[in-house]
Amino acid sequence: MRAEKKELKTENLVIIGSGPAGYTAAIYASRANLQPLLITGFEKGGIPGGQLMTTTFVENFPGFPNGVQGPELMDLIKAQAVRWGTKLIEEDAISIDLSKRPFSIVTTTQKIKTNSLIISTGASANRLGLKNEKLFWSKGISACAICDGATPQFRDEELAVIGGGDSACEEAEYLTKYGSHVHLLVRSRKLRASAAMADRVEANPNITIHWETELLDVLGNNWLEKLKVKRRDTNQEDEILAKGLFYAIGHTPNTSLFTNQLNTDSKGYLLTKPGRPETSLEGVYAAGDVADSEWRQGVTAAGSGCKAALAAERWLTKNNLATLIKRVELEPSKAETTKTLEISNEANFDHEKTWQKGSFALRKLYHETEKPLFVVYTSSSCGPCHILKPQLHRVLNESKGKAMGVEIDIEIDQDIAKQAEVSGTPTVHLFKNKELKKQWKGVKARSEYKAALDKLLD
Ligand SMILES: Cc1cc2nc3c(=O)[nH]c(=O)nc-3n(C[C@H](O)[C@H](O)[C@H](O)COP(=O)(O)OP(=O)(O)OC[C@H]3O[C@@H](n4cnc5c(N)ncnc54)[C@H](O)[C@@H]3O)c2cc1C
Repeated sequence: MRAEKKELKTENLVIIGSGPAGYTAAIYASRANLQPLLITGFEKGGIPGGQLMTTTFVENFPGFPNGVQGPELMDLIKAQAVRWGTKLIEEDAISIDLSKRPFSIVTTTQKIKTNSLIISTGASANRLGLKNEKLFWSKGISACAICDGATPQFRDEELAVIGGGDSACEEAEYLTKYGSHVHLLVRSRKLRASAAMADRVEANPNITIHWETELLDVLGNNWLEKLKVKRRDTNQEDEILAKGLFYAIGHTPNTSLFTNQLNTDSKGYLLTKPGRPETSLEGVYAAGDVADSEWRQGVTAAGSGCKAALAAERWLTKNNLATLIKRVELEPSKAETTKTLEISNEANFDHEKTWQKGSFALRKLYHETEKPLFVVYTSSSCGPCHILKPQLHRVLNESKGKAMGVEIDIEIDQDIAKQAEVSGTPTVHLFKNKELKKQWKGVKARSEYKAALDKLLD
C-alpha cells in the first residue's frame, strides 16, 4: 500500500544525497542554525551514505592516520550532522520542480517545499547491458567486490573484474583474498589507475590481466560459470572460467531529476560557476561527484559540500529567506556512534536480549525460541549492512520483545552462510518455529520487514 503524501512547511534548505558532500553541507548548514532537511536516498542512485559505503579502508581521508573503514567514516560524518540538528528523510527524491519558488520536491511518501537546494546525488556504477546480465545479476555478477567478495560462493574460485581504472585494480587486489585467481579484463593496452595501483596489480601473481579483451556475454546454469570474450587484437572469441564477475566500469552522474531544469555537461554532470557551487539557477547549489567528473574523492566531495552550504547560507540571508532556530543548549549533547556487538557464547548469551551475534546465539534461538527470529547475514566490509541493521533494530524495538534477531558475520561463520545458501550481504531470513517464512537480499524499506513480522505476530 502506498503511504499518503504529507504536506510540510517551507524549509530553509534541502540537501539531496547522503555521501560526504551531502553530510558535510548538512554539518555546516545545521551549525549555522538553518536546520537543513537532508534526503538521504534509499535505492535510486546509490545507498544512504553514498559510494564510501561500498569500500573497505579509506586511507586518504584526513584525520585518520591508520585509515578508516568507509562505512564507519560515513557513520561518523552522519552522526556529526545529526548532532547539530540536521533532519533526515530516509527516502529517495522522486521528482523536483524548480520552475516556481519555493521549489517542490516529492519523495516516496512526502511533498516538501524549500527556499534553497543543495544537490549532492553523486554518481552510480555503470552496467554493461549484456544479454544474460540480468539472469546472473547477484548469481555471480556484482557491482561491488568489497560488499560481496567474501560470500562463500566466491571462495577459492576463479573470479573476474572488468575495468581498467582505480576501482577495478582495487577490486582485483581485494578479491585475491578470497578467490583462487583473479582475471582482470581490460579493453585497452593500458591501465587508467594511479601508477602505484597499476604497478601493484601488474606485479601480483594471483591476477592475470587480459589486455584488449571485450566481454561479450556471461554463461552458466543457475550460477555464473564462464565469460565469453573477444580478444580485440586478434578478433578471436574465447572463454574464461569464472564463478564471480565484478563490474568496475565507471559511473554516471545522478542528474536525471534535473533534466531540462539545470545546465549539465555532455555527460550529464551538473555545471556550476568555475570553482564555485552555484548552478545555473539561483538558490540551487551542487556539491560532490554530481558536479565533478574529474576529482571524485571523498575529501573533494566534502570540501565542495562545505562551499555549497556557506553559499546557500549567504544567499538565504541576503534574500531574507532564512528562518533560524534558537538553541536552548549552545553545545548539543554528544553524538551517538555505533557500538561493536559482542559475539554471544555460553557465558553471555541472554534469552531476553532481542539482538545478539554469532552461531551460538543462532543455534540457541533457532531451536529454543517460539518468537519470530530475524537472521541477518553481514560482513565487516558490507556498507549496506550498516544501513540495514539500525532499521531492523527499530523493528525489533517496536515489537517490544515479541521478536528476536541474530547477526551472522559470513566471514566468521562461513559454514552457516554456506548451509543457508547466502549469496551476498546483507541477506535477511525470517523464521518462526524453525520454518523460513520470508527472505530478503539487500536492503529493503523498514516497512517491509515490519509488515512481514506483524503478519507472524497476528
Ligand atoms: C569502491 C570505491 C572506493 C573509493 N575509495 C575512495 C577512497 O579511498 N578515498 C576517497 O577519497 N574516495 C574514494 N572513492 C570515491 C568517493 O566515494 C566519492 O568521490 C564520494 O563518495 C563522492 O561523494 P558524493 O557525496 O558526491 O556522492 P556519493 O558518495 O555518490 O553519494 C551520493 C548520495 O546521493 C544519494 N542519491 C542519489 N540519487 C538520489 C535521489 N534521487 N534521492 C535522494 N538521494 C539520492 C545516494 O543515495 C547517495 O547517498 C571511492 C569510490 C568507490 C566506488
